[in-house]
Amino acid sequence: MLWTKTFIPTLKEIPQEAETVSHQLLLRAGLVRMLMAGVYSYLPLGLRALNHIEKIIRREMDSCLAAEVLLPAWQPLELWQKSGRDKDLAEIMVRFTDRRGRKVCLGPTHEEVITDLVKNHVASYKQLPLALYQIQTKFRDEIRPRFGLIRGCEFIMKDAYSFDRDEAGLDKSYREMHEAYLRIFKSCGLEILVTEADPGVMGGSFSHEFMAPAKDGEDVVLSCPGCGQAKAYQAPGAEMEACPRCGAKMERLNCIEVGHIFKLGTKYSKALGADFLDEKGKLQPMIMGCYGIGVSRLIAAVIEQNHDAAGIIWPQEVAPYQVIVLALDSGDEKIRDLADNFYRELAAGGIAALFDDRDERPGVKFKDADLVGIPLQAIIGKKALQDQVVEIKVRRGNKLIVKPKEEALREIRGILNG
Ligand code: ATP
Ligand code: MG
Repeated sequence: MLWTKTFIPTLKEIPQEAETVSHQLLLRAGLVRMLMAGVYSYLPLGLRALNHIEKIIRREMDSCLAAEVLLPAWQPLELWQKSGRDKDLAEIMVRFTDRRGRKVCLGPTHEEVITDLVKNHVASYKQLPLALYQIQTKFRDEIRPRFGLIRGCEFIMKDAYSFDRDEAGLDKSYREMHEAYLRIFKSCGLEILVTEADPGVMGGSFSHEFMAPAKDGEDVVLSCPGCGQAKAYQAPGAEMEACPRCGAKMERLNCIEVGHIFKLGTKYSKALGADFLDEKGKLQPMIMGCYGIGVSRLIAAVIEQNHDAAGIIWPQEVAPYQVIVLALDSGDEKIRDLADNFYRELAAGGIAALFDDRDERPGVKFKDADLVGIPLQAIIGKKALQDQVVEIKVRRGNKLIVKPKEEALREIRGILNG
């Protein structure tokens, strides 16, 4: 892609309304723009990062044999009255009456809808276990939308649901999802702490939260520097700060909750009548689990953990592009042609490349390249003409590698393949 043909409105100044590093960089690197508080547009670079995160998630959901669906955002309130959550979630639920007089809401989550769907189409133990997931926009009228993509009123979630015959089945489904989550966050370049948590309004017996340590995170986690044990921090003063496992003094870490998994048991299957016939022909409620990831919030968490003073440093799998080609002195036709050829070679080799073809000073291009954080920069300037070399800058660590032009592509491929 050419910089002049895509849409990357970078900002020199730190926007005043942005309190956290990720919010600042999301705006400065031209990834998102706010429409109103808690509601954002994804611009081309932000959308590419989002798509790459979704690709990682789909791969790992596949590995759990979960099948993708897409459920409606528009839902009858009646369904929520059956589970009683029309009251529990009354404040954050966006509701209205349509012109047919139907009372509806925009889904803040989908336990009710999925349970109703499965109830109508699964009748026998032979159809279980079943796991379904979706990547979809959720609507929550949050009391304090803030920190950019961290707490929005409209945000993208991956939500998965498992249906099993018995507790042992649920244990297995839950364990597989837990492991898939660790692989997802690792592929996203995130360091994660896992804490056991209170299931809250979701109900059920058991839950784990996946917490990304970040300076501006809204949650506080106690983490043991000795053995890695982590747990949620409750009220100040009320907590013993010695590790329950090894006794070392635990540290308080601010974190962003990026994922939450629950053993729901029969809360929703009983409320909505999702039963199946077991081997003995007896009617039993399905045993459920649910598994959420804040997909759009993940972009913010990735930036919180992967940046420096100059800008974002994208982990490779999430990066909007793998390489940015900088044509320095693009007024010089020969340099422009060299850079253009190199960009075409990269693209022909299947490497996602962005070509900064703007008529801008080198300083502006260098600054923007660091800010948008593409993992590799291929710098083509006067030296490329005089000495036939390409300078490759590795954004993580800002290391410079100089290679003869004909070896540069192989070098880039080598770095990208690790
Ligand atoms: P929180 O405690 O942060 O409000 P939650 O317990 O309400 O989260 P869940 O209902 O479990 O969250 O949703 C699953 C995931 O969706 C969360 O782990 C989080 O990553 C993400 N998420 C929840 N609320 C928001 C929001 N308002 N904006 C962006 N992401 C969100
Ligand atoms: Mg919430």
